Amino acid sequence: MELGSLKYVSASDGMMEEDEAAASQLHHAFTKSFHVVNGGAGGNGGAGNGAAPPGIAPATSVHELLECPVCTNSMYPPIHQCHNGHTLCSTCKARVHNRCPTCRQELGDIRCLALEKVAESLELPCKYHPLGCSEIFPYYSKLKHEAQCNFRPYSCPYAGSECAVVGDIPSLVAHLGEDHKVDMHTGCTFNHRYVKSNPREVENATWMLTVFHCFGHYFCLHFEAFQLGMAPVYMAFLRFMGDENEARNYSYSLEVGGYDRKLTWEGTPRSIRDSHRKVRDSHDGLIIQRNMALFFSGGDRKELKLRVTGRIWKEQRPGPDPGAAARAQPS
Ligand SMILES: [Zn+2]
Ligand SMILES: [Zn+2]
Ligand SMILES: [Zn+2]
Ligand SMILES: [Zn+2]
Repeated sequence: MELGSLKYVSASDGMMEEDEAAASQLHHAFTKSFHVVNGGAGGNGGAGNGAAPPGIAPATSVHELLECPVCTNSMYPPIHQCHNGHTLCSTCKARVHNRCPTCRQELGDIRCLALEKVAESLELPCKYHPLGCSEIFPYYSKLKHEAQCNFRPYSCPYAGSECAVVGDIPSLVAHLGEDHKVDMHTGCTFNHRYVKSNPREVENATWMLTVFHCFGHYFCLHFEAFQLGMAPVYMAFLRFMGDENEARNYSYSLEVGGYDRKLTWEGTPRSIRDSHRKVRDSHDGLIIQRNMALFFSGGDRKELKLRVTGRIWKEQRPGPDPGAAARAQPS
């Protein structure tokens, strides 16, 4: 996939006349200001070393002009500039204590309307283009799309730590096994024992994750203890490693019991797009009160011993799932 095959509307092709004028003005301002910077920085890369044309570090495209020179993120209105024309994004402006990071002059409160207008005329490919998204958006709606783009990478589904790893499903499966030492199973049924020696201690950090591979997909089985109101509870639920639309093609059941009693749960796995915490806080899974958990554990109530069995199966669901709204807000 080549970015070159997509059409960037740049300053040199397809921009409307008035914007072209604005862009050329901007270009001029930038060339000039880069000159000042290079001169002020003691000839670094400027006229002194002879490697580059004297003082010229021109921005080569409007796209580059719209990159904040401080944080390199794309700039969105309000775009700010100093008295010398150095631009910066509003996030950076809030951080620099009214000093232009480029020339150290007082920043003031000047908006760069020309650049904002130029941005409006741009159409850019989704930033997940290299991952397969072929959509093109006006500059200002690109961010909104990217937050929801189906090709955006998934976050690591491992709970209990602030893991920042993102990626596609195969790379996350490998990451879970290698870096988090998660148990991997093949098959659509499971039979797990969870044992904890002091069940009276319930810390939020008590949880387990197992990954199942079936129907050509991966599923995360979570088991954890947490405090629900005043009472400690145990909870088990399944998440689908893929997007929500595909998750709806599957159902799962969980069962826990002992001594002629049992609790069962049947549901649709949630996508790992929904965070572990979000699923937990919506109680979308099998919840076992502590007293019941201790009863199922038998013995002297000193040890938690739960056997959780379950199954995943494929549904033949026609069209959109009418239960989706209800599932998002379980009562
Ligand atoms: Zn910035
Ligand atoms: Zn400046
Ligand atoms: Zn996209
Ligand atoms: Zn991780």
